[in-house]
Amino acid sequence: MFAKKLLAATLIAGLACGSAFSATVSEGTGVGKHGDITVKVTLDNDKLQKIEIVKQHENPVLAEKVFTDLKDEVIARNSTDVDAISGATFSSKGFLDAVNDAVAKAGVKLVKADKKLIKKVEKALPLVNNYDVVVVGAGGAGFSAAIEAKMHGANVVLLEKMPTVGGNSLISGAEMNVAKNWVQPKLGINDDSPELHAKDTFKGGDGKGDMDVINVMTHKALDAAKWCRDELGVKFEDDNLFFFGGHSRKRALIPEGHTGTEFIKKFSAKAEKLGIPVITEMKAEELIMKNGRVVGVKASSHGVEYTFNAKNGVILATGGFGANPEMVKRYNPKIDERFKTTDAPGTTGEALYMAERAGAQLVNMGYIQTYPICDPISGVIELIADARFDGAVMLNQDGKRFVEELGRRDVLSHAILDQPGGYCWVLWNDKIGNISNTVKEHQTEYEAFTKQGIMTHCKDLKCIADFTKMPLGQLKATVDRVSSMTGKGNDKDFHHRAGLVDLSQGDYYVIKAVPSTHHTMGGVRINAKGEVLTADGKVVPGLWAAGEVTGVTHGTNRLGGNAYTDIIVFGRLTGEAAAKAK
Ligand code: ADP
Repeated sequence: MFAKKLLAATLIAGLACGSAFSATVSEGTGVGKHGDITVKVTLDNDKLQKIEIVKQHENPVLAEKVFTDLKDEVIARNSTDVDAISGATFSSKGFLDAVNDAVAKAGVKLVKADKKLIKKVEKALPLVNNYDVVVVGAGGAGFSAAIEAKMHGANVVLLEKMPTVGGNSLISGAEMNVAKNWVQPKLGINDDSPELHAKDTFKGGDGKGDMDVINVMTHKALDAAKWCRDELGVKFEDDNLFFFGGHSRKRALIPEGHTGTEFIKKFSAKAEKLGIPVITEMKAEELIMKNGRVVGVKASSHGVEYTFNAKNGVILATGGFGANPEMVKRYNPKIDERFKTTDAPGTTGEALYMAERAGAQLVNMGYIQTYPICDPISGVIELIADARFDGAVMLNQDGKRFVEELGRRDVLSHAILDQPGGYCWVLWNDKIGNISNTVKEHQTEYEAFTKQGIMTHCKDLKCIADFTKMPLGQLKATVDRVSSMTGKGNDKDFHHRAGLVDLSQGDYYVIKAVPSTHHTMGGVRINAKGEVLTADGKVVPGLWAAGEVTGVTHGTNRLGGNAYTDIIVFGRLTGEAAAKAK
């Protein structure tokens, strides 16, 4: 899987500082999460002098430390026998493979430096720290909360247990549902409203969401999106929207690049500008209580315990528990070991128990969403297959459609698992692909999935049938039938709500997909102000929660595009409330 390219090593001989030296320069390649990583190493005999990154397409936030801290450590230890950056395992492995490849081509065997000689620079952080507001978890909700708290005059700190910030918010497609947004009129959509958005959300969650909380989310959505655009500088596409399953209107704004990287980069820049300390590798372990009020956080970093006192209170923004398979199975035994996860590795939910110990009620914990279209190997979402929102069809191994492609995620996931082999193929052509350009937007996914052998690009259906092993006759029959039922209201088989699109002409793209655990709808009970509640409905003083850690907004099922609306609206709202709290 981790194929390596052969590149020649070159030997440079010369004079440096008046003494003779012999340096070898060699290039090597490994495969990261988003394609090839190529490095150039400079060696002096068997000692690494320098590593330059020639090419890489890794996530700039998630993999940042691979090309800084990990690189420095490899040089300091003169070894690739080092721990991967947690949360960036694939990128780390690709980088280390590339270094190993380069070194091997130079014909060198690295001799490890003596561990005792390598001094780790520890952060000079006091063991006790005093703030007005402590925000736990540096995803979209946490950043929104911290920035808003700071902008309302609070002295605030943001704690993150992983080495890098972003959580699920970083790796998400990051589309954001906003009724009455500025793009809708350009697409002729003039009849949307926050009320309709709320109705869709409530219905999409089978009536189990809290309508007061939902209404806050949908009514404050436009203001939140404008804040992202105007205050943070988030760039949205200004002529296109996503139409996620379960919505009655096309209303999801699309960030540039179609991922959360655009948001998290802008969040980080704003936090830095405002002087908000963002402390990574700092895990909140316990909430400190005094006279029934939350007054701080006990946290740990590399075995050292730190205290963060919070004069006004603490905001929990620790995300869900989708990457904790034991916890998922505990609350929903149907989602067992067969499921991989789309989630960031920090999404392990211990903070929910921390909140429970402080008096919070955990609700709706069994409602766990699986995302239908994911990589069968790693479990990550195939953003490239978002062509589904523009008309791509889902086929089983027999070459037949089996579900309405814009149905709810839970409906699609179960339908896929009911098909032979428990997987499906997503098929689209250029006519569909050209609408949102997902192949171009996610070029690195295209390269990685193609290399992995689960995706291909073909001129005709024969080639698609050869690749997928679907029967050509049935595949053609399905494509003909789809092409004969195009346009809204004409899909007699599965009632595609946006209308099928003509598939009769190529080029074609196809990708194999399975469902993965994606979003945990349950969590901490909150009210419409984001205050955390006990089982008998009383507020836990000094404790707010925002984002996926909360459990009352989405009911049984979160609609696509509502996570970003939720995290930004409630992040901001709790940040302001905590800043103003006495
Ligand atoms: P949301 O979408 O609700 O903002 P994310 O998943 O994007 O949620 O972000 C949650 C962040 O919280 C992740 O980066 C995760 O690593 C972090 N986190 C989870 N538990 C803790 C904890 N106990 N201490 C500090 N950070 C945590």
